[in-house]
Amino acid sequence: MKDNRTFVTQPVLPPLEEFIPLLEDIWKSKHITNNGPYHQKLEKELAEYLGVPYISLFSNGTLALLTALQCLNIKGEVITTPYSFVATTHALWWNNIKPVFADIEPEYCNLDPEKVEAAITPETTAILPVHVYGNPCNHEKLKDIADRHNLRLIYDAAHAFGVKQNGESILNWSDLSILSFHATKVFNTIEGGAIISHDAKTKERIDHLKNFGFTGETTVVEPGINAKMNELQAAYGLLQLKTIDNDIAARKEITKQYREGLKDIDGVRFLEDIENVTHNYAYFPVFVDEEKYGMSRDALYGKLKANGIHGRRYFYPLISCFEPYKNYVSASAENLCHAHQLSSQVICLPLYEELCIKKSESIINIIKETRI
Ligand SMILES: *Cc1c(COP(=O)(O)O)cnc(C)c1O
Repeated sequence: MKDNRTFVTQPVLPPLEEFIPLLEDIWKSKHITNNGPYHQKLEKELAEYLGVPYISLFSNGTLALLTALQCLNIKGEVITTPYSFVATTHALWWNNIKPVFADIEPEYCNLDPEKVEAAITPETTAILPVHVYGNPCNHEKLKDIADRHNLRLIYDAAHAFGVKQNGESILNWSDLSILSFHATKVFNTIEGGAIISHDAKTKERIDHLKNFGFTGETTVVEPGINAKMNELQAAYGLLQLKTIDNDIAARKEITKQYREGLKDIDGVRFLEDIENVTHNYAYFPVFVDEEKYGMSRDALYGKLKANGIHGRRYFYPLISCFEPYKNYVSASAENLCHAHQLSSQVICLPLYEELCIKKSESIINIIKETRI
C-alpha cells in the first residue's frame, strides 16, 4: 500500500535476496536462538566495528538497561534526565530504584553535571545519563562527580551507535553503556539492544543474567531474565553492518542540507557538529523560539503534519511529566527549567537514508513559508 506521508524515520532493511540464504542456513541447522553462530558472529563484528572490548546482545534496549542495573546491583536513588525516551526511567522503576530528575544543559540537551551533583543525597548510588540525539555527554565532569561521590555511572547510549570522541568510542566510557537496535534507531535488528562492558568477567555475568541466570545445564547462580537476541535478528544485523557506513553518510548529507536551508531562519535553532566528535546523524532536532519565529512549536508541528510531514516532538512530554514520575524531581533542579523549555520547543524533522533531497527541500520550504 502506498502511503504518501513522510515520517520522522524509516528503517533500513537488508536486501531480501541476501537475507534468504542466511534464513535457509538457520532453517537447516534449526539453531534458532540461545547464543547460536550468528549471535556469536554479530557480537564479534559489532565489537570490532564499534571499537569496544565486550558486547552482549539483547532482545531490546530496555531489557539491556534493566539488566545493566541488575548487574551492578544498583539500589536506592539514581540521578537521571527527564529529557529522554521513557524507557530510561522505566528501567529504574522495574529495578525498584527511585529516579531523581536533574536538569539538562540548554545547548545539546544532555544532563547538566552541576545539577547532577546538587541532586546527590545519601541514598544516591548511580548516575544514568543519556547521550541525547547521539551527542556525547560531558563525561569528564560526570566521571569526576561519580568518582568523588563513589557512584556508578551507566550510560543510556541508545542513540549513540558508532559515535566517537577524539577517535575513541564513547561506549567505552563509564561502567556500562547500553544500545538499542530498535527499528527507529540508526542501526537496527528490528528489535534489539546490547550492553557494552569492559572486562570478560562482567560480560560473562551479563550473559548469564540475560539467560535466566544459568551457568550450566543444572546451575542457576542468580535470578536472571530472558533477554536473548535470536538467530534471525542476529543474521539480519550482520547484513545491516555491511551498509551502516553508507547509511550514516546519507544521513550526514541530509543533515548538511537541512542546516544550509534553515540557517537564516530567525527563531529556528538546530544543533551543529561538535569538534572532535564523529557523529552518527541519528536525529535532526530543531528548536522553535515562538517569539522570534512568529509561530509556536505546536503550530509548526501541525502545519508540517497537514502537509504530510510527521515530525516527532522528541522529547515531549518530559518523563517527569508522566503520571508515574511526577513526584521525583530533585528539589535542587530548579524545576527542570531548561528541560521544560527545550521540550516545549523541539521537533525532530524526518531523517533517514532514503529521504530524498526533494522531500527535505520541501520540508525546509514549509518551515520558511510559515515564518511571518
Ligand atoms: C529507544 C530507546 C530506548 C529503548 O530501547 P528499545 O530497544 O526500544 O527497548 C531506551 N532509551 C532511549 C534513550 C531510547 O531512545
